[in-house]
Amino acid sequence: MFSASVLTLYPDMFPGPLGQSLSGDALARGLWALETRDIREQGLGRHRAVDDTPAGGGPGMVIRADVLAASLDANLTAEDARPRLLMSPRGRPLTQARARDLSQGPGVIVVCGRFEGVDERVIEARGLEEISIGDYVLSGGEIAAIVLLDACVRLIPGVMGKTESGSDESFENGLLEYPQYTRPRDWENRAIPDILLSGDHAKIAAWRRAQSERLTRERRPDLLPPKA
Ligand code: SAH
Repeated sequence: MFSASVLTLYPDMFPGPLGQSLSGDALARGLWALETRDIREQGLGRHRAVDDTPAGGGPGMVIRADVLAASLDANLTAEDARPRLLMSPRGRPLTQARARDLSQGPGVIVVCGRFEGVDERVIEARGLEEISIGDYVLSGGEIAAIVLLDACVRLIPGVMGKTESGSDESFENGLLEYPQYTRPRDWENRAIPDILLSGDHAKIAAWRRAQSERLTRERRPDLLPPKA
């Protein structure tokens, strides 16, 4: 089963949105598991300090290598084969392909940074893989971890109603999804495209494909293969 262990200074942020709707129902049904570990449990001294000022000067604070390593060591065994991810704007961007890949595996260990980030040495020494959810800076890794887990959990077998309800979606075939419509058939003088009501499945598939290609060309040409 997909099992997520999250190391964080804010365990109360979990399950948060992951406890609702699709991921929440799946959690309740035991299709995946989530545990949180408070990094502060390994904090130092009376105040359980976890951070200190950056070597070389500069603003903010950095999570200490010894504290984060102690938290990882206390909570994980040597046999734990799950990928060890560190949420980080410097990481390789998360993709749908990676989320699908992770969702087929044993789960993930996710470390959430805070402040200016974490001491570089613990990233190296504990083999953490940095992973980003986009080119912007959040105040902490928790929301990024929730994004990552949500993307993975919906792809776990049995979580979505129909297995095929994932395969048509944006990014799954290298294209953005085609426009969707539902009832009412006419709404504010806007009709559903006739072809979708024709019952001709081959024509519908061709229309959707063309729409996907048009939207991808207009909005995300970077997703298309380079022209020869
Ligand atoms: N000083 C760092 C940013 C620290 S933001 C830098 O310039 O790279 C604080 C924490 O928020 C990070 O340690 C990371 O865990 C999380 N975070 C911020 N933006 C993120 C993003 N785009 N993707 C994933 N995690 C992010």
